[in-house]
Amino acid sequence: MKTRLLRSPADLNSTEILALYAGLNQPIAALDCGAQCAPQHPLGKPFCCDICHAVPAAHLSEWATLQTRTQLWHSWRGDECAAEPVDRSELEDSLPSGMILLACLGHQACERDYRLLSCRQFPFFPYVTSDYRFIGLSYDWEFEDKCWVISNLAQVTPAYRAQFIATYDQLFALFQDEFESYALRSQEMREVFAEKRRRIPLLHRNGGYALISPHSERARRVAARALPKFGPYLA
Ligand code: SF4
Ligand code: SF4
Repeated sequence: MKTRLLRSPADLNSTEILALYAGLNQPIAALDCGAQCAPQHPLGKPFCCDICHAVPAAHLSEWATLQTRTQLWHSWRGDECAAEPVDRSELEDSLPSGMILLACLGHQACERDYRLLSCRQFPFFPYVTSDYRFIGLSYDWEFEDKCWVISNLAQVTPAYRAQFIATYDQLFALFQDEFESYALRSQEMREVFAEKRRRIPLLHRNGGYALISPHSERARRVAARALPKFGPYLA
């Protein structure tokens, strides 16, 4: 029997990581989305850059690349969120192999070129159907009432959408484990939305928008105005 050697993004070298970063560097929207969500945050921070709301996960290859180039990141200690202690074991248990939790110096010290892949993709992840097709971008639903982008999907630029799709097409062609992890995430989203009796919003890889039935997985094409808004962005 032939043994297949599975590589993971953890194996990429620094040149490959920097090329990956260069391929996903477009702003997500024409305006600064952080300026839209920060006024809703009690401390005026963009939610995705607040360690109390999101702990960034990096591939080990990203960490190896960034450690020698910037002081922006350190290995997450678990005490960075002063407001509330974080359950360290819960987060670490959910971390895929080949990844590490990091913390940055905060949004005022952000270095755009040295953002992680997880910063660049937020709030999106590649949505994969149960028959293993990557059909577009859906989002981290736990941030629905915090992230302005989620309530304004029509503001996502075509350039960002194209870069996102090209980046994950490339990663999925190389790394089966990366594809599997997003197939599982998509399945989890179908289960959560089925429970809530909601359809899953999608930026389709072929352009336009869709709402997906979490049961039948039928994608109904919709106009941008049919996409839902949440929390402080309802108006
Ligand atoms: S991606 Fe969402 S949470 Fe992050 S800065 Fe933009 S609007 Fe805020
Ligand atoms: S590196 Fe920048 S984009 Fe990423 S979490 Fe830190 S402040 Fe936010």
